[in-house]
Amino acid sequence: MTPKVSSPDSSLPAGPVTRFAPSPSGHLHVGGARTALFCWAFANGRNGTFLLRIEDTDQKRSSDAASIGFLNDLDWLGIHWNEGPAFTRPDGTALGGGAHGPYFQSERADTYNRYIEQLIRDGHAYHAFDTPEELDAKRKASLATKTPYRYDRAALQLSPAEVDAHLRAGTPAVVRCRVPAGPIVIKDEILGEATIPAGEVDDFVIRKVDGFPTYHFAVVVDDELMGVTHVLRAQEHFTNTAKHMVLQDALGFRRPTYAHLPLIFNPDGSKMSKRDKDKTLRAAVQQKGLTEPPADLGGAITAEAWKAWFGDKNKQLDFDIAAKLAAILDVTLPEINVDDFRRSGYLPSVVCNFLALNGWSPGENIEKFDLEFLKARFDLSRVQKTPAKFDRVKLLSFNCDAITSMAREEFLRLSIAHGEQFHPAFLKKLTREQFAMLAGASHERSKTLDELFRNNRWVTAADGALTWDDSKNVRKAMLEGTPPGIERLRGLQPTLTALADWSPAALEAAVKLFADANTGGNLGMAAQPLRVAVTGGTVSPPIFDTLAILGKESSLVRISRCLAHFGS
Ligand code: GLU
Repeated sequence: MTPKVSSPDSSLPAGPVTRFAPSPSGHLHVGGARTALFCWAFANGRNGTFLLRIEDTDQKRSSDAASIGFLNDLDWLGIHWNEGPAFTRPDGTALGGGAHGPYFQSERADTYNRYIEQLIRDGHAYHAFDTPEELDAKRKASLATKTPYRYDRAALQLSPAEVDAHLRAGTPAVVRCRVPAGPIVIKDEILGEATIPAGEVDDFVIRKVDGFPTYHFAVVVDDELMGVTHVLRAQEHFTNTAKHMVLQDALGFRRPTYAHLPLIFNPDGSKMSKRDKDKTLRAAVQQKGLTEPPADLGGAITAEAWKAWFGDKNKQLDFDIAAKLAAILDVTLPEINVDDFRRSGYLPSVVCNFLALNGWSPGENIEKFDLEFLKARFDLSRVQKTPAKFDRVKLLSFNCDAITSMAREEFLRLSIAHGEQFHPAFLKKLTREQFAMLAGASHERSKTLDELFRNNRWVTAADGALTWDDSKNVRKAMLEGTPPGIERLRGLQPTLTALADWSPAALEAAVKLFADANTGGNLGMAAQPLRVAVTGGTVSPPIFDTLAILGKESSLVRISRCLAHFGS
């Protein structure tokens, strides 16, 4: 008998080994992040190893940029891998490495081929030379007779000499696994036991025409060689498990414990998909009645492409165009991927806490916890079978609670870090003192780190470029009341011009005096036109902070311009 290729077992730790094995196309979806989180918690709570492997055998769909994005996102969340791709952070600290690499499947072709040869020698796999056209015709014939298509083993009719001749001639070939007859029983820690009836799994491909192994093959080989003991992955992979078990048996591998995690859906039961962003944009475009791409998009999309996108709900805008359009339309795109949540200013600790509640709960009505708690308490027995519903309102309230209860200095530090990454131009326009004042004034109302930047565009606008829209609120503040807001502002102007101390306290004292004398002590009546004058809108941080952040010179220029605007 041919000896099996042996498994390097010596370096396995005592605890369980879990793995997260993303395919690096696109961005890390919240569902993937939740899988990674549970894998991390299960292993780390049991003195085990959480391993990260990049499944990039689909050459067309994988990219290095996506792989790096995945590593960054996991690191940002705090889901650190004990073993896996080496990763160096900007500050020089590093993560990953280990004895079972390489951890990119594209670098493991020799290993897979060794095992494929073993299977062919043992009669568990065979070359198949069917052309795509032949297979297609057979698939169509099955469809016509309404019988499920199964590969008919045509390749097994070839004699060894014919197979050799094909191989020597370089006929394009796949390798198929010869699946034994009989039902397959899958045991799952969450879903229980399921029997896949005999004949359901046909002789599936394990090596593609391009020479790369299929997902099914690579995953089975790597899980064995990397010593994976527990496979926690999304429920959509449940039926794949049957194929994986067939391969494990053919290769003489151990069977890991399987646990398939419930999917995460939108509250309306739809899949959380990238398309949700376009849906939001289309609704806003419709509401605003935009039939042409807005000029602010700077020609990034043609009128025809715009029309085609608007009319086809399956079409998606390019990531950057979508983000730009969202800013123009002033809508927040629904976050789907981890980097969306990061950009929107969610805290990684909150995202992890919230994700853990999507499909699991610690019981005892506990909802708020950190990674340490999750690690100590996570258990497969409390993972639910049914899909989880992603409750954005709850996530936002968790984030708000976490932000408002953190120390002021911490909020300032995190806001600066967020600004450096996502709003560098905003940050550059302010002095450190100005930004610190703005952060201090915004802290207790911030639900996300991004709000500070999104809601305070007035602070970075050039004094000469600030505009006042024609909204109901602005008109009410400036043109209604007795006397109208603009008159109150005109009355206040000399007081403010004469004020030497521009601190919030001095400003407050001066405006109070004015209010006592002119608005019957109603501070709001004095303050609201002032707010509109210096910010262009009716919402801002407390008005005296707002004025102090802007400084005297800018405030007075804006007040004069506003008086001219509404007085004309
Ligand atoms: N690469 C697969 C995916 O991203 C992994 C599935 C598995 O965990 O086995 O879906």
